[in-house]
Amino acid sequence: MKIALLGIGKIAVDQHVPAIETSPDWELAVTVSRHGTVDDVDAFTDLDAMLAERGDVRVVSLCLPPVPRYAAAQSAIKAGRHVMLEKPPGATLSECHALEALARQYRVSLFATWHSREAAGVAGAKAWLADKTLRKMTISWKEDVRRWHPGQDWIWQPGGLGVFDPGINALSIMSEVLPDPIHVSSAVLEVPENCQTPIAATIDFTHPDGAEVQATFDFRQEGEQIWSMTAETDQGTLVLSEGGARLAIDGTEHLAEADLSLTGEYPRLYKRMAELVHQGDIDMDLAPMRHVADAFTLGRRITVDAFVE
Ligand code: NAP
Repeated sequence: MKIALLGIGKIAVDQHVPAIETSPDWELAVTVSRHGTVDDVDAFTDLDAMLAERGDVRVVSLCLPPVPRYAAAQSAIKAGRHVMLEKPPGATLSECHALEALARQYRVSLFATWHSREAAGVAGAKAWLADKTLRKMTISWKEDVRRWHPGQDWIWQPGGLGVFDPGINALSIMSEVLPDPIHVSSAVLEVPENCQTPIAATIDFTHPDGAEVQATFDFRQEGEQIWSMTAETDQGTLVLSEGGARLAIDGTEHLAEADLSLTGEYPRLYKRMAELVHQGDIDMDLAPMRHVADAFTLGRRITVDAFVE
């Protein structure tokens, strides 16, 4: 199937283009981006022009930041195209619900992707936790924003999510592997005095059986980068680290060789999108978004030092 890629920025170049180019399911037929292009691929700078001129391209994958995503997805769906959304699937929950309703109305497939759920250790963690009683879960997602998000001013603007941009990846894994539904009970958001979004956050959750669940996100991490979660249960301790690529239970590694790159995640997302299109299905799990929205609603804000890139 021919596919269009919208928003040729960091993640499009790093992950989407290679995943599409090596997939048996997809042909990268078009890009839509004001500044970016991909060698030997037909390039548009305007989505509506592409939708009008390239009726042969039935699927659009959106790699934009969250705020402009809704308008682009709405145009594509109204033009009868199937749509794949980078995470987060929108800037607000209401936008995501509206897109899902629109996709049903226009009978097209819609996929809210959560790439971290495709990390190598996540399925094994989910299977192991399924029959355990959780006592405590500690999530630590700490990375250097200057290293991973250079020049991305949108992250600091309303709707850009700040440290929740990577943090939502942790929440996507958490909501996938935990068998019980949990919800945010309180949060502390540290917001630089010159920014609109948090640079760090601590979130506490309520678990139905009283397990302690806490997530700490920090964009100011220098040196070792940490993307890990530890689940203490009645039958042992599970650690998912390296963003879900590495799984250890009671200190024993459970993957033959951890896949520490993102390389497996995006091919799996594109395979799933091909299935959704063939089956005429929608996959729109908004649980990670709900946790973020609740943290912003309940969060106590602390103003911290200005962020200078
Ligand atoms: P990015 O490098 O800033 O690229 C986003 C692209 O979207 C830009 O190149 C820009 O291309 C286009 N765009 C259209 N409207 C825009 C607007 N109003 N503001 C800014 N850019 C706009 O961002 P990214 O890192 O690729 O992230 C994009 C999405 O992918 C985010 O939702 C992020 O959470 C997700 N993601 C990122 C990573 C990562 O490691 N960076 C990993 C996984 C997921 P033109 O100016 O050419 O139109």
